[in-house]
Amino acid sequence: MRGCPKDRRGNRVNKDAGASVKSIAADTKQRRPRLVRAAVSLPDATTTVRMLDADLAIDAVGWLEVESSAVCGTDIGLYRSGLDGPTVLGHHVVGSIVSLDAAQADAWGVAVGDRVALEEYLPCQDAACAACSSGCYRMCPQTDLWKGKRRVGLVSAEEGSGLHGGNAEFMQLAANSIVHKLPADLDPDLAAWTQPFANAIDWTINVGGAQEGTTVVVVGPGYHGIAAVAAARAAGAAQIVAIGLSSSVEGLEIAEVLGATPVVHDDGDLGEVILRATAGRGTDVLVDTVGLEGSAVAASARSLRTGGRLVVSGLGSTPMYLDLKALVRGAHSIVGVRGRSPSAVTRSIDILASGSSGLDVVPTVAVPLDEVDEMFARMVEGRGPSSPHVVVRPQPVLAESAGRTEESRVS
Ligand SMILES: [Zn+2]
Ligand SMILES: [Zn+2]
Repeated sequence: MRGCPKDRRGNRVNKDAGASVKSIAADTKQRRPRLVRAAVSLPDATTTVRMLDADLAIDAVGWLEVESSAVCGTDIGLYRSGLDGPTVLGHHVVGSIVSLDAAQADAWGVAVGDRVALEEYLPCQDAACAACSSGCYRMCPQTDLWKGKRRVGLVSAEEGSGLHGGNAEFMQLAANSIVHKLPADLDPDLAAWTQPFANAIDWTINVGGAQEGTTVVVVGPGYHGIAAVAAARAAGAAQIVAIGLSSSVEGLEIAEVLGATPVVHDDGDLGEVILRATAGRGTDVLVDTVGLEGSAVAASARSLRTGGRLVVSGLGSTPMYLDLKALVRGAHSIVGVRGRSPSAVTRSIDILASGSSGLDVVPTVAVPLDEVDEMFARMVEGRGPSSPHVVVRPQPVLAESAGRTEESRVS
C-alpha cells in the first residue's frame, strides 16, 4: 500500500491462537486479573474510577499489567469533542505481560513476564483487506480513528471486560494486538516515550527526510513536537528550530535543552519567521505538530529549501491556498502523516535504550488513576502542566493500596 513502504515487519499472528484467556495452560507464572481498577472516561468529558470485571473479556488471548499510559493530544481531542460512550482511554501503553496463550506467545515471540509497548491498532488482518494483506496495518479501515475505531483506548468500556485502554491496572491483549518487546531495564520514563518518539522518527526522518547536516523546523513544542526535536537530533540535523506560542515557553525551553533554537511566534508570517531563524537559508524539513491554519501552512511552505518537505501531523481545520509554481520550482513535498511504521518503533526503542535520545531531560508528570479526571480537565482547558510528558501510572503505590491486597486483584 502506498505510504507504508516500511510496514511489512508486523506481528506474526496466529489467528487460531485461542479465543479465551481460559485456554491458557497451567503455568505458575501466569496471572489473571479479576477485578481491575480503571479510569473510565465518559461522553460528558468526565472520568470516573470503576472496578471492571476481567472475567467478562471477549477474545482475550492474554493480559498486560499496565506500567504507563502516556497522554496524547488525540486523547484530549477525543475527550473534548465527546466520546461515543464510556471508554478506558490510553493508547500509548507500556506494560508487562502477566498471562498469554501459549500459541500467541509463540506467534509474537514474547513470553509471560516480558515488558512490551503496544501500538494502538487492532487491525482486521483479513486477507481481503488491502492494508492488512500488504502489512500496512495502520491504514486498515477497521483501525481508522474516524471510521472503524477498533483501537487501543477507543473500544467501548461496555464491550466485554471494557479493559481495552491503558488507563487501567490491567488491559486485555487480543490476537490482533500489535506488541513490541522492550528491554527489561529501560528506564520507565523513557519507555513511556516509545510510541510518540516512534511517531516523531517516522514523521521527521522517514517521511521528512531529516539526516545528518539538514535543517529541521518543528512547529509546536508539545508532546510530539519535543519528540520531533529529539528525532531531528538523533538524525544528526545541523540546525533544529522549535517554534511555539509565547504561552508555550516551557516547551521551548525543553526544546532548547535538546539542542533546538527556540523561537516565540504568536502571529505574523510564519515563513518569514523561519527564514529569519535560519539566516535566510530556509529549511529542509518542516514538521507541523499543531494543526496550523491553512494560511500559516502556505506561508511556512515558502521557507522550504529546494527539495524540502513539509510534514503535516496536526489536524488543521481551514483550507490552504498554495503557490503551485513555487511548489514545482522548489520540488517541494507536502505530506500528511498518520501513526508510524513498525521500523520506526524498533528505531525508537533502540535509541531510547542506547540512552542517547535526550528525552530524559523532559520532566515526567505521573498521574495516578484517581487523578485522571482532574488532569484531563486541566489539559482540555489548556491548564495542563508545563511539561508535555504526562503519563498515567495505574499501579497503586503500595502505601496507598491499604485494604486491597495484590491477591484481591490478581489470581
Ligand atoms: Zn497518540
Ligand atoms: Zn485490515
